[in-house]
Amino acid sequence: MIITTSKPFSEILSNIKSYKRIFVVGCAACAAKCQTGGEEQVKNMIEELKKENKEVTGFIVLDTPCDMRIVKKDLAKLPEVKRSEALLVLACGGGVQAIEKIVDKPLLPALDPVFVGSIERIGVYNEFCSICGQCIIDSTGGICPVARCAKSLMNGPCGGAVNGKCEVDPELDCAWVLIYNKLNKINKKENIFKVFMEPRKHSKPKKLDNSRKL
Ligand code: SF4
Ligand code: SF4
Repeated sequence: MIITTSKPFSEILSNIKSYKRIFVVGCAACAAKCQTGGEEQVKNMIEELKKENKEVTGFIVLDTPCDMRIVKKDLAKLPEVKRSEALLVLACGGGVQAIEKIVDKPLLPALDPVFVGSIERIGVYNEFCSICGQCIIDSTGGICPVARCAKSLMNGPCGGAVNGKCEVDPELDCAWVLIYNKLNKINKKENIFKVFMEPRKHSKPKKLDNSRKL
């Protein structure tokens, strides 16, 4: 899921200062799970906007704002959207840009997307995957060296770990120690000597001049 944090309200206020009538959009998927863009956060945002003498024309929490079909179906034709000068969007950049494709109004993001992460508990998120496009974690016990090794080393550790902790950030476990321990636990320890990752194909997936499209 896309992990997001809320922008400081002062930044949001500065971005919306030239608009009076605001429509607020939330996200019932990732942003709701992160408690940055669900119904409760949208309602809190509306209260804050009212205190600043903004007129809130309406709000909606879309199931998945990053899905243009949902945006078309549930948002685009709302009269409150048409009446608004701008939309404040509590969703990731994918959501904001899906709305941009459908709605011709100024769009103001209220969140900062941080990474694709796995939730441990609210407020504790792990970046386990960097979406490299060539997943190899079948060889590494399900633990990703691209995302979880500070140097993204693909063929074993750098040798700098101390007591299982990474030399770059001693707060974090060394990914390769985790990989070794996991392979040991699942009786695949011999894999560690077999793993040899070919140089990555940086042409795949192809990065086009603008955004990627699969
Ligand atoms: S190798 Fe790592 S970064 Fe690449 S897709 Fe798999 S988990 Fe994600
Ligand atoms: S100590 Fe481990 S996680 Fe840190 S950079 Fe070296 S191999 Fe990667």
